[in-house]
Amino acid sequence: MKTVISLSDLRTARLSLAETVGLVPTMGYLHEGHLSLIRRAKAECEHVVVSIFVNPTQFGANEDLSKYPRDLERDLSLIAPLGVELVWTPTSEIMYPKGYQTWVEVDTVTRPLEGSMRPTHFKGVTTVVAKLFNAIQPHKAYFGQKDAQQAAVIRQMTRDLNFPVDVIVCPTVREADGLAMSSRNKYLEGADRQAATVLFLALNAAKKAYEGGERDAEALRRKMKEVLESEPRVQMQYVSCADYDTLEELDVVKGKALLSMAVMLGKTRLIDNFVLE
Ligand code: AMP
Repeated sequence: MKTVISLSDLRTARLSLAETVGLVPTMGYLHEGHLSLIRRAKAECEHVVVSIFVNPTQFGANEDLSKYPRDLERDLSLIAPLGVELVWTPTSEIMYPKGYQTWVEVDTVTRPLEGSMRPTHFKGVTTVVAKLFNAIQPHKAYFGQKDAQQAAVIRQMTRDLNFPVDVIVCPTVREADGLAMSSRNKYLEGADRQAATVLFLALNAAKKAYEGGERDAEALRRKMKEVLESEPRVQMQYVSCADYDTLEELDVVKGKALLSMAVMLGKTRLIDNFVLE
């Protein structure tokens, strides 16, 4: 496994990868969720490239950029046994040199949900992913369903800009009690960690209602809200039952839909979702 930092070292290393290249973009502090994407990439591609970059442009002014957990040595030791060929760990100066002024923005699908709470977030995400696609030129790129809107936005960008990349969305990996794995879970302690299972419980309540025949989207949203409100430590940000691709709120669930939510638990922001097929 080779680790490179500079763009020229990345390009040289990329040239030696002659067959299908799968990219797994991450912000590091890896957990089983990230590793599941890497394993899937390894199963489907001859070569796997992992990028580790805490992308400053996707953090809002009041968000946790400086406190975002980092541990490169541990990350590399987790990746090493998985057969990854190349790890790119660019610096902010490499990705955004002095005088940087080019941005990639996706329109409607970035507006609701996460976009409504974090208005500059997706501009940072699409810009950095476009730069990763250009620099690494992968055939396939692997993202987690955990960040459902991010996956929808990347799919849209890839289509709109004709990137010759297959975007593959992999299932959310969860802790034994259902909490979706996230680098930010590290901040959850004691009672907050216990309370965090309420997102999974809320999603399950709505899914059960759906499986029982409920198709009224507002009734499904209400189900999720009721469960979240039963946990006093949780501050709800949004609860949604939306079209899977456009992310527009639904009146009635007909095709593929996304149940999703964001809450604050103390100072930690948590998101989660289920897909209704
Ligand atoms: P991050 O390092 O948080 O930017 O995440 C990098 C990639 O891992 C993104 O595509 C995430 O959606 C994905 N990911 C994060 N958590 C999980 C999880 N629990 N299960 C599956 N994929 C995940």
